[in-house]
Amino acid sequence: LSTHLKAFSSNYNIFVIYTKENYRLHMKFDLFAHSLLKHTNAQLHLHIITDKKSEVSVLEILQRKIRKFKRILIYTMYDVKICSEIIQDITDKLLPYFSSSPNSYYSDSLFFLSLGLHRIADKSLDRAILFDCDIVFRSDIRLLFAEFDRFLPHQLFGLAPELTPVYRHILYRYRTRFPKSNFGNPYNPIQLGGKKNNENKLVSSRNRDRHGYPGLNSGVVLMLLNRIRDSKTYIEMLTQFEVNRLVAKYSFKGHLGDQDFFTLLGYEYPNLIYRLDCVWNRQLCTWWKDHGYSNLFDAYFRCEGVIKMYHGNCNTRIPER
Ligand code: UDP
Ligand code: MN
Repeated sequence: LSTHLKAFSSNYNIFVIYTKENYRLHMKFDLFAHSLLKHTNAQLHLHIITDKKSEVSVLEILQRKIRKFKRILIYTMYDVKICSEIIQDITDKLLPYFSSSPNSYYSDSLFFLSLGLHRIADKSLDRAILFDCDIVFRSDIRLLFAEFDRFLPHQLFGLAPELTPVYRHILYRYRTRFPKSNFGNPYNPIQLGGKKNNENKLVSSRNRDRHGYPGLNSGVVLMLLNRIRDSKTYIEMLTQFEVNRLVAKYSFKGHLGDQDFFTLLGYEYPNLIYRLDCVWNRQLCTWWKDHGYSNLFDAYFRCEGVIKMYHGNCNTRIPER
């Protein structure tokens, strides 16, 4: 690389998907870009997967932010059609198990792009982070990139826990067969309500080290692309045989696309996943609280610490400061 080109390279490779734009998505991406730039002065490289129609807004929003924050941004646009073709084989295998009906919200190849991003990104890219555009930054993105330094040698992806009981719900049959399983339980053991009698104390101290595995949320995904490209285990997990085996083992029928797969991958091969703290992906959706889980919901939803990134999933508003 000549020095001239080096001036226009970045260690901060950020992927976002922005397709089939509508007013709501437009507002989300505006806030995403605004909060991202507001909290960092790092040289960023944005990689945006988009379509012909949505691209116009992306460029307009980015121009506006560049002017406002007086900054240089490196960006690359990707055509979602081409990207979808690159990962078509993955989508075909996963769609039947990880989306509800053919026309439902998550039954689109765009919800599986994360699983094949190592094919889409240029071979020269190693560290990349994929964000939903309903993410809002409350801190410098450089701090999140620093989390890569904490990956163990076998870890490929970094994800934060899912903060709802959705996988408790989906794993209902599995959990009936294996009542002692911690899959689908909240990360922190459930504290039974009411008086804290001795018996309760006993239960919670015995379970103190046995935290639960609520599942993973894919609103923020750290990726070590070279390790993913070279991982025999990961590539094998995406074969039809392994997908069938996994789904059968957990009697799994999901509807949330890539994050269903990441969740199962995390159950089967916990070594592959670095566990990001919830403060990096503080989800806000409370849908499950009103759908049969009012008493358990808070145990899942709890996230202590200074929030670094909010995730306004299921169209939830981000709190004002
Ligand atoms: N997305 C998109 N167009 C759509 C729907 C989704 O580009 O029509 C992208 C966008 O980046 C969004 C991500 O896919 O943030 C995941 O969808 P969403 O955040 O709505 O799912 P949730 O987090 O609410 O489950
Ligand atoms: Mn989201």
